[in-house]
Amino acid sequence: MSELTSLMEMESMLDSVEKPSEIFGELVFNEEAQRQYLPDAVFEKLQEAIRGQRPITEDIADAVAAGMKAWAIDMGATHYTHWFQPLAGTIAQKHDSFLALNKEGKPIEKFSGKALVQQEPDASSFPSGGIRSTFEARGYTAWDPSSPAFIMETGGTRTLCIPAIFVSYTGEALDYKTPLIRSIHALNKYGLPVVKLFFPEATRIFSTMGWEQEYFLIDEQWYEARPDLILTGRTLVGALPPKNQQLEDHYFASIPDRVLAFMADLEYEAYRLGIPLHTRHNEVAPSQYECAPWFEEANISNDHNQLLMDLMDRVARRHGLRVLLHEKPFAGINGSGKHMNWSIGTDSGRNLLAPGKTPETKLAFLTFFVNVIKAINDWNDLVRASIASDSNDLRLGGHEAPPAIISVYIGDHLQKVIDRLEQSVPDERFLTEEEEAELKMFIHETIPTIFLDNTDRNRTSPFAFTGNKFELRAVGASMNCAQPATVLNTIMAYQLKQFYEDYQALVDKGAKKELAILEILHKYVKESKRVIFNGDNYSEDWVREAERRGLNNIPDTPTAIKAYVTDEAIKLFEETGVSSRREVEARYNVRLEKYAQRIHIEAMTLIEMANQQILPPAIQSLSELAATLNSLPTENAAVRKRYEKLSELVERLNSALEQLQEKVEKAEQEGDLPKQAELYAKEVRPAMEEVRKYADELERIMDDRLWQLPHYREILFIK
Ligand code: ADP
Ligand code: MG
Repeated sequence: MSELTSLMEMESMLDSVEKPSEIFGELVFNEEAQRQYLPDAVFEKLQEAIRGQRPITEDIADAVAAGMKAWAIDMGATHYTHWFQPLAGTIAQKHDSFLALNKEGKPIEKFSGKALVQQEPDASSFPSGGIRSTFEARGYTAWDPSSPAFIMETGGTRTLCIPAIFVSYTGEALDYKTPLIRSIHALNKYGLPVVKLFFPEATRIFSTMGWEQEYFLIDEQWYEARPDLILTGRTLVGALPPKNQQLEDHYFASIPDRVLAFMADLEYEAYRLGIPLHTRHNEVAPSQYECAPWFEEANISNDHNQLLMDLMDRVARRHGLRVLLHEKPFAGINGSGKHMNWSIGTDSGRNLLAPGKTPETKLAFLTFFVNVIKAINDWNDLVRASIASDSNDLRLGGHEAPPAIISVYIGDHLQKVIDRLEQSVPDERFLTEEEEAELKMFIHETIPTIFLDNTDRNRTSPFAFTGNKFELRAVGASMNCAQPATVLNTIMAYQLKQFYEDYQALVDKGAKKELAILEILHKYVKESKRVIFNGDNYSEDWVREAERRGLNNIPDTPTAIKAYVTDEAIKLFEETGVSSRREVEARYNVRLEKYAQRIHIEAMTLIEMANQQILPPAIQSLSELAATLNSLPTENAAVRKRYEKLSELVERLNSALEQLQEKVEKAEQEGDLPKQAELYAKEVRPAMEEVRKYADELERIMDDRLWQLPHYREILFIK
């Protein structure tokens, strides 16, 4: 453990604390820096490009590159890189130096518009799901002007990082960012006409995102002594200590000094990079914490989350700590999620999921609110699929995390509004005048009070309305939020397109605007009310109830992600322009491959640990007990029992290991990718559980002198 900061050091630290507002964004090529380093005309053109109102032409790119280079060099940067998010799961970069030789062979600093716009990393070792055959092995990264460039300070050097998309040479997306950006465009394209029904002043809409990042923070000595943490990010064995999280004494408790020092350091780095961190607190499990920022436009917020995850790891190391972002690092103890708060905003400053004050804005709210519910109902399995991963499978449905059943929580007050909407419409196509008046009054009177209900939020729901946004709680802590955000934006775009067509059809037949809207909402509520659930999502009753309602409860990733490759889903992605069939299918393959590989690594790590670190001390313990038995003058029942118990466990562990080995070999030999992934889900994972069961029992009874791995009680309680 590193030494505690002395009082004097602490005092001097407190004296030198900088105001967050003064350092905020100092490493970012933000509007302020752009104004300073770009000619006015170029600045204006760049802003228009950022708003999607004009393409980046060569001359703009050259001018922006010149300003960006000057800024970066003033900031002390020597290299630049495109900063992108390949499907491999971590941020990728390829650094190039500004250094170039001019015609006379003299060294100069060079950064052209072309280098800003495009880079060509060797793409052949990034996962592509078969999109890139060898003859088109090149992929390229392309500048995303909507997310500002920034300077990364690592290893004592400074690098200009340019957020970028990553695509194959034939233009297919190979990353998380491209589909997200396309989904934001789709949302604007199909949603704007609906928005204009209420707010004609809006000229652009976009999704907003604010994530809450959960994580574990542990001392590096425990991390380094655990091959499973090093290689897989989670513990593959480990007995639950008698005290774990029953007392709930960690949640919101005071934060240990050392952890707080890490958090403050992280916040300092985050502020300089323009990440608007806002909240920090302890979470439910021992050694578990959370941080959350103010919300931003989805693409930027997501880049900030990716950047923060990277920062967390580096800052933790400085403090002799390690951050665990795995969804389930410790069995039997709460896992880590990432709540993704999501809404839709307009450039005129409105939040479309915030109930307004006038009857008109309330109807607008209700329209978007009901359309979200309809979209979640219609694309339920796809939402589930968007948050599926081998690690999140271990968390979902664990009675501490949202279940794998996707439902929507709306709370009591809005439930009343929805119920009213559901009953209201008579046989005729339109409401009578009185009914319309009554319904409008009801909506007007009910909606303002929903905020009172906020304290009573349902923490068990995977998708909850929380006053002015929806909160997708089923996202895993280690995940890239772009994946679920892309799905939410896409299904919402598709839904709003449908809504507008339905609306036009009624209006063309002569319906009044408000009546037409209410009529459609009525229909949508009827069609999608099954997805609304305000009760306890962790209960067994809900599992049965959901089944009656026809909502799926899909336990594993290989099964879940099939929802991406159905004909309807491909039609959804193609019609909205978010992904082509080839892209969707490639991604599906990448996810299956990654799933199988990751479980394979886990299984092999477990086998190694059992052979190297668990069985040998157990066998040594056995031989010590045997020697004791032989040396005792009289038979000792306690020693014999202990010997027998240990002997039995060693045998069982060993045969469980042999079983596991067989299952892994079988899975490895399976040539069909979906089948292979399924074998890892249905055979290898359970076989690993079997090994773990005996290993954990051994840990509980074995002589602690011989046990080699840090216990949960040490990892989680010694801070
Ligand atoms: P909780 O009570 O769930 O911890 P908060 O109310 O503190 O949540 O907010 C959680 C997150 O929601 C924050 O990251 C915040 O920025 C985000 N958020 C707030 N409003 C919006 C919005 N309109 N769109 C997206 N995210 C939002
Ligand atoms: Mg939350």
